[in-house]
Amino acid sequence: MRVPFSPPRMDKKMADAVLDTLYSGWITTGPKTKKLEEELTKYTGGKATVCLNSATAGLELALRWLGVKEGDEVILPAYTYCATANVVMHCGATPVLVDVGDDFNIDVSKIEAAITRKTKVIMPVDIAGMPVDYDELRELLAKPAVRELFHPNSEQQIKLGRIMVLADAAHSIGANYKGRNSGTLADISSFSFHAVKNLPTAEGGAVIFNLPEQFDCLAVQKQFKVKSLHGQSKDALEKSKAGGWRYDITEPGYKCNMTDINAALGLVELERYDSDMLVKRKSVFDKYNALLEKHEWANIPVYKTEEKQSCFHIYMLRINNATEDQRDRIIDKISAEKVAVNVHFQPLPLMTAYKEFDFKMEDYPVAWNNYQQEISLPVFYDITDEQIGWVIDALVKAVEEVM
Ligand SMILES: *Cc1c(COP(=O)(O)O)cnc(C)c1O
Repeated sequence: MRVPFSPPRMDKKMADAVLDTLYSGWITTGPKTKKLEEELTKYTGGKATVCLNSATAGLELALRWLGVKEGDEVILPAYTYCATANVVMHCGATPVLVDVGDDFNIDVSKIEAAITRKTKVIMPVDIAGMPVDYDELRELLAKPAVRELFHPNSEQQIKLGRIMVLADAAHSIGANYKGRNSGTLADISSFSFHAVKNLPTAEGGAVIFNLPEQFDCLAVQKQFKVKSLHGQSKDALEKSKAGGWRYDITEPGYKCNMTDINAALGLVELERYDSDMLVKRKSVFDKYNALLEKHEWANIPVYKTEEKQSCFHIYMLRINNATEDQRDRIIDKISAEKVAVNVHFQPLPLMTAYKEFDFKMEDYPVAWNNYQQEISLPVFYDITDEQIGWVIDALVKAVEEVM
């Protein structure tokens, strides 16, 4: 038996939706993208949505919209995917890392010490689909000592009047925190619809706006759309109408719009996301939990607390007391049984791209410890009970041989 890590679900409904778009006469950004934006606004309860070609593009547009530039600092967890830090560097700003807690999410109690007069944004990451402690984060930003440190130097920063919370919500569509949905927990949130994520459109993403009342989120939505399409004052659909040829370029914008082919996939998946995809993913988590509970070495991921509900994106198991070398050997043995597992994530201080910042792994001890023990198990829509059993057999055998 072979178990892949997370192939996307694919069925006739999705194929038909793509074909329908291909033959509709409109394949780039158009009516289906607009419809997906409306559906995402409804689904999350956010104020407005812009669909893009990735979550990364959404994060970068948000930083650029806020006017983040050289000399500015952006706080993010040491434990995340590279995209979170890369977009900060694209803007010329400096990523400032904060250690995580036992749950892999940024440790809010450690953020204050990282805030300086240069801090413009905090980018929490809802790892594996489990929301960050957003209320604690808001309380921190409301503290007079923190407010005093904020030095705005762009129109949007002045209007906001405090550090912005920009959620890397790449994992967390469908999660909630104290009854509020991911997408409405930060000022701006960016979802990913990449092929391995919960709601795949091949490539894709969306930013959801939940800015405070001094902002007109529909106007901000328009600004993001213009930014995502060269700075063009009209999109392709508007331009294609008879007499609609003249437009302006209002700024040197970017090119990261979503196509209607991708949006067609998103519409199919979003409609059945809660009733089908999340139900299936929960059942996979529950089956793994039931099979692992009796093993003392298994540190099982928490997917629900009193305040938080995960959307079951990644099954982040830890092997108690494993060293990095033991974990790696366990993975080799599991792989020999044709089971694909992963490590989420290699903390940023370990990566070559960030060496100019001189991050030291020992300054982020929880991230370092979590990483050494972490193995992510396969979770996907079509996984069978037999495959789940095979994964656990391979894992148990490997751990017993190595530890
Ligand atoms: C996947 C991922 C991203 C990037 O998403 P894209 O849609 O591929 O740009 C960003 N952050 C985290 C934590 C991710 O896992």
